[in-house]
Amino acid sequence: MLRLEDGAGRVGYGEVAPIPWFGTETPAEAEAVCRELGDRCSAEVIAAVPERFGCVRFALAEAQADLTGSGDPALPQLNRRLPVTALLPAGRAVLEMLPARLEAGFLSFKWKVGVGEAADELALLDDVLAALPAYAKLRLDANGAWDRRTAAKWLARCAERPVEFVEQPLPVADEDGLRGLAADFPVTLALDESVADLAAARRWQAEGWRGVFVMKPALAGPLEQLAEWVAVTKADLVLSSAIETALGRAAILRFALTRPELTKRALGFGVGEVFGDRRWDGPMLGPVLDAGWLTGVNTEALWNALS
Ligand code: MG
Repeated sequence: MLRLEDGAGRVGYGEVAPIPWFGTETPAEAEAVCRELGDRCSAEVIAAVPERFGCVRFALAEAQADLTGSGDPALPQLNRRLPVTALLPAGRAVLEMLPARLEAGFLSFKWKVGVGEAADELALLDDVLAALPAYAKLRLDANGAWDRRTAAKWLARCAERPVEFVEQPLPVADEDGLRGLAADFPVTLALDESVADLAAARRWQAEGWRGVFVMKPALAGPLEQLAEWVAVTKADLVLSSAIETALGRAAILRFALTRPELTKRALGFGVGEVFGDRRWDGPMLGPVLDAGWLTGVNTEALWNALS
């Protein structure tokens, strides 16, 4: 966690939530960058933190917005309710989990695939779809686990079915394969692991990617820059969790409430209660997030809990 205090005594907090295997800086690198800023620094120095430290840059921008109050949603936005995607477990367990999630009011679902045998999972797809009402949307996430043959089999099946999109069907390294699938099948494809930061997303887009970009804002630098990219390029975006705490999530939500172009698709925040502590998990996550959720997050209390 970062704490900034300005000359007027105003305080702002930010969260650095790296996932090194996803391509971000390590916690040690993040700490070194922060130490280099010293006890006092200017906004210019903060703005000059190199792009590859996306997690630190996200946190610094978050803390700056927090101390000026510029991230607080204006009144009209307080009424917005953003749908959250429920995460469904791999394999047959999906069918046991689904009724409770529907009952809870979720409208959007993500099913993890590429875990068991492809034939077994494919056989379950129609059962999953049959269990969903027409208003619900289903995403599949293979987390890069398929090879080209398996991915093609799945996409041929999905082409005739109401699947919202298929996420990261092939490993990050198989860029030609990913582009080939996008060209060969009418199914909407999404990149997740392939676009860990904004630079990667920009590159894919420049090379002609027309599918969805699943972006984890906590890894991608200042929220303003992500929003500007979407505004300028009309990128098809899903905001997703980097397993940040309620502090980081609150910053993303506060911002997203004011930017409808970032939330055309349901939020990929359905990671569950990973910290096992209400202070860090924040208020219980339901099928929608709104400004009410923010009031249950006390950033100062989180900071004090650490010190
Ligand atoms: Mg994913």
